[in-house]
Amino acid sequence: MISEKLQDLVNNQIGKEFYSSYFYLAMAAWFEEQSLEGFGSWMRVQAQEEGCHAMIFYNFLLESGGSIKLPAIEQPPFKFESPLDIFQQGIKHEEYVTSLINTMVDVAIDEHNHAARSFLNWFVDEQVEEEDNFNSVIGKLKLIEKGAGGGMFMMDKEMSTRIFAMPSPLIGKINIG
Ligand code: MG
Repeated sequence: MISEKLQDLVNNQIGKEFYSSYFYLAMAAWFEEQSLEGFGSWMRVQAQEEGCHAMIFYNFLLESGGSIKLPAIEQPPFKFESPLDIFQQGIKHEEYVTSLINTMVDVAIDEHNHAARSFLNWFVDEQVEEEDNFNSVIGKLKLIEKGAGGGMFMMDKEMSTRIFAMPSPLIGKINIG
């Protein structure tokens, strides 16, 4: 049985993951409005993954005998300065999400909740990948800023190759995401 403290954190996390999805959808729209459809597609995939993250926490809470209390989701920004600004806001947000996951891991350890600890490992690893993805794009955008002609066009093409893959904890599960 999951503790009330961890249950509250997981419910909060479901909201944060849906907010992430919302945030990245707002970014996808901005890119598409700038005719950068490849970046838009990348962000749509990111948004889809975040919806899955929310559902992974949702499934976990139900399987752990907890109660779902979905929090309100705040409005994301819709005005951005540039592709670099977007990815810098993205990495900042992912670092925040990592801190939330680390807090849940700390609580699971404190409470000797090994099931929760084991479940959260997937997210600990996932956050390393998420931060690396954002940092890698930021690195390339900074190179383009230094002046390689046509760089943005080439990069937009590369961004368009990202495809969605169902996160392993959701394979075979009922999923509304
Ligand atoms: Mg996430």
